[in-house]
Amino acid sequence: MFAIARSKTHFISMEKRLEQLPKLSKETLPETRKYFKMLKKRTPKNLDVVMKELHEDEFKKTDCLSCGNCCKTTSPIFIEKDIQRISKHLKMKEHNFIDQYLERDQDDFMVLRTAPCSFFDATDNSCFIYDVRPKACSEYPHTNRKKFIQITDLTLTNTEVCPAAHTIIENLKKRIPLHYNKKVKRS
Ligand code: SF4
Ligand code: SF4
Repeated sequence: MFAIARSKTHFISMEKRLEQLPKLSKETLPETRKYFKMLKKRTPKNLDVVMKELHEDEFKKTDCLSCGNCCKTTSPIFIEKDIQRISKHLKMKEHNFIDQYLERDQDDFMVLRTAPCSFFDATDNSCFIYDVRPKACSEYPHTNRKKFIQITDLTLTNTEVCPAAHTIIENLKKRIPLHYNKKVKRS
């Protein structure tokens, strides 16, 4: 989960966005895949700047506490420092924390055993360990990441989970359309 909510006023619209997201993301997926392929071939120099702007604009309007879809459906990766910090916070030994909550995925990353996340509070979509949450949670959906072009595959997946990420990418397509992208010169 990216950020603390600013208000509850987007609750109904977020409900609708989440309801529409599976169908919408399925429809846009082939086009987005093609778009990212083109973008990789000719990456505009200002891509990270544009992404940062689009990300900030979208998260000014997005209330993560009315959503929580990332925490409900996916797992962050837990790196060593996350495990140390969170187990200390929970006053647990690291190996007990790992045994209780984590497992290795097929890529050998430490991930949650269950979804929704064990630290997710379904009563208000908040996080029990918000202040010490994994780095991957604090950076999710990574749409303002430097060298964004390197994480387009991950972003494709995230557009199916995160309504904000989906909107950001749709806005990116408008901001840097393919026909424009074809004309971008490397210099
Ligand atoms: S640790 Fe917190 S922010 Fe991360 S997935 Fe779990 S509930 Fe969400
Ligand atoms: S899925 Fe996206 S909008 Fe929803 S809580 Fe997670 S980061 Fe926020």
